[in-house]
Amino acid sequence: MVAVPFEGWDYPWPQAARSLKSSPLMEETPPLTFLDDEDTSSSNPLPDGEGDTDTLFIDDQDRYSRLRLISWWRQERLAAAKVLVVGAGALGNEVLKNLALLGMGTVYVIDLDNVEPSNLSRSVLFRGEDGGKSKAHVAAFRAREINPDVCIIPMRGDVITNLGLGLFAEVDVVIGCLDNREARLWVNRQCWKTGTPWVDAGIQEIQGVVKVFVPPDSACYECAMTSRDYQLLNLRYSCPLLRREQILEGKVPTAPTIASMMAALEVQEALKLIHDMPVAAGSALIFNGITNQFYHTKLPFREDCLSHEHYPEPVELDLGHQQPISALFEHARRTLAGPLTLTLDRDLVTHIECPRCDWRIDVFRPRTRVAESEATCPNCKAPGRPEMVSSIDEDSPLLEQSLASIGIPPFDIVRIDGAEESGFFLLGADREGLSTGWASSRDTA
Ligand SMILES: [Zn+2]
Ligand SMILES: [Zn+2]
Repeated sequence: MVAVPFEGWDYPWPQAARSLKSSPLMEETPPLTFLDDEDTSSSNPLPDGEGDTDTLFIDDQDRYSRLRLISWWRQERLAAAKVLVVGAGALGNEVLKNLALLGMGTVYVIDLDNVEPSNLSRSVLFRGEDGGKSKAHVAAFRAREINPDVCIIPMRGDVITNLGLGLFAEVDVVIGCLDNREARLWVNRQCWKTGTPWVDAGIQEIQGVVKVFVPPDSACYECAMTSRDYQLLNLRYSCPLLRREQILEGKVPTAPTIASMMAALEVQEALKLIHDMPVAAGSALIFNGITNQFYHTKLPFREDCLSHEHYPEPVELDLGHQQPISALFEHARRTLAGPLTLTLDRDLVTHIECPRCDWRIDVFRPRTRVAESEATCPNCKAPGRPEMVSSIDEDSPLLEQSLASIGIPPFDIVRIDGAEESGFFLLGADREGLSTGWASSRDTA
């Protein structure tokens, strides 16, 4: 087995630890004070009387009464907030637990996998009897038990192929609970397109790293990618087809303790973002669990970074991903001068054919969802040649097929390039999924 280097360790951390001592962040930090006596909470903690009137008294029937005592806390902001959690593994479980405790208003969670026995040592929301059920659904079900105030919408699916860009635009913060570079890079690009802040964490054994990204001005995940990161991604692209097993780097050993710590930091950063408090955007907080050293390092901002693409506010169409491609072009023609081209964010494998015999099979799935084994010719065992498209023209023979059939997920924001300008369109007819989820969301826990 090839050891995949932990992303946090790409930084020269002894130097960074030294530089922390002179960091202005440290000097500006006000001294912390703690109250010993819990009952001092009965008076208004806000010196100037500023804030919500309901912080003036303690309602012991209010489950958030102790949180409201934090001077800057706005429970109403949390109740109105929308968060997307990508991944319901060890980190995702802890993040969802915290979001439930906090009374976060709406939480979307997406994960493709099912609960396995090996998850039970690191996942606070899973039980032995959950084996084989969707991680996202089980985690949502248990988090609702913690706090029924929170609306948690689970989706069993893949963040790259099943989640439309519209959801990234809809939420206030994205919390990454991922275990591979491919998905992180994807989430990063989606967040930059929609201007949505995101928090990422990585864990290995008892070490961890948390990064906060705020588009458009902070350094992003891709800005900080090293040549080694690109090399590891390119290895995966050396074959035109990607098997899911190859994409996942996820078999990294981790302890539940570090998952809990890093997930807690992620949620605290999300809390600050929701309260419009300053965050250390474009930086990494790295924790060495062996020596107990925490240090902070600023990520480099790259002017030529490929992730720095921002989409303007899309035009919302009364059109869903199940409708034909031709209907989308029809809408686009009202505002754009042709010829028009629909750009596909996910390369589409249309068919695979054998280079030696006449075997040919129709596929119509995004590249990342086609297994290498599917591409082997059943007659002569030769590796098949995939035919891929990355855009659709107005005269394409595929026009009467659905947008879904060419890999466009529900509630996506699609881009159509015209002769002079581009149009951005939200598939608004898929909007009902905002309250029910998309993908295979009918599976229940
Ligand atoms: Zn960047
Ligand atoms: Zn063949």
